[in-house]
Amino acid sequence: MDIRKWEDFIDQEKERGVNLAILIGGEPTLCLDRVEAFYKRLSTFCATNGLIKIPRDRFPDMMLGISLWGGEEDEKILRGKDTFTVSSRNYEGDPNVYYLYTLTPRQIGKIESVIRKIRNVGLKVHMQLLSNDEGVDGFYWKPEELNDLRSEMDDVLGKYPDTVISCKYYHEIITTGKMFARSFGWGECPSVTEPLDNRNPRPKRLIEFIRWASDLTTMHRCCTSETRDCSTCKDGAAHMSWVMVNKRAHMRTTKDLQNWIEVYEMFAKLYQFIPW
Ligand code: SF4
Repeated sequence: MDIRKWEDFIDQEKERGVNLAILIGGEPTLCLDRVEAFYKRLSTFCATNGLIKIPRDRFPDMMLGISLWGGEEDEKILRGKDTFTVSSRNYEGDPNVYYLYTLTPRQIGKIESVIRKIRNVGLKVHMQLLSNDEGVDGFYWKPEELNDLRSEMDDVLGKYPDTVISCKYYHEIITTGKMFARSFGWGECPSVTEPLDNRNPRPKRLIEFIRWASDLTTMHRCCTSETRDCSTCKDGAAHMSWVMVNKRAHMRTTKDLQNWIEVYEMFAKLYQFIPW
């Protein structure tokens, strides 16, 4: 609860070379003094459910990613309420906000209607895939569903290029879990907390990445839940980073390098290193 401890922690992280803070879950906007401690010191991205409107006079250009799990009915089933109505009212037209739309097998065939709603409130969207950590029936991915999903993601990117922040290579990587002949998983994951990374040989990875718990002492394995199975992990940021840290593998052909650059551009937009 002592804000000075947070400030000291952030200063130490900066000394370690950290240049980007990603604040996620439970709900960071419940503790705005802590969010502000980061925002004043570092490039800061905050993931939120969008139900609390952050004051823009205090955080003028902080990038927010608002979680979204589908259309009205699906949101009610999965989250108990239709959060879009509230979050879109809070952030309509905000240039530093995008929806982080988690696709589940139930979203197949429905994505375009959700994207259109987001476009109509003047916001952007980035898509990621559900990893079924809780083992809920009906929410496991089947290979044919992932194929269909990939075409649908490509389709909405083509139709709404000013709204969807993505690229086709990201869709390929996230739906197949393959990069060239390599499979995503523990042996390849770039987003493992550095001091806990005992892999040998070590794959290419994010430099000095640590996922801290809110006690500022505990380190977690990676940015997802402790119990997640790496072999079925669909974490979007980890897949995106997987491509980015493997630059040299993408230097064999012009197309490979273009793919790599497109993923990097997508990342740079999502974390405010370049404009939309
Ligand atoms: S669960 Fe996913 S993000 Fe975490 S270590 Fe495994 S593969 Fe990486």
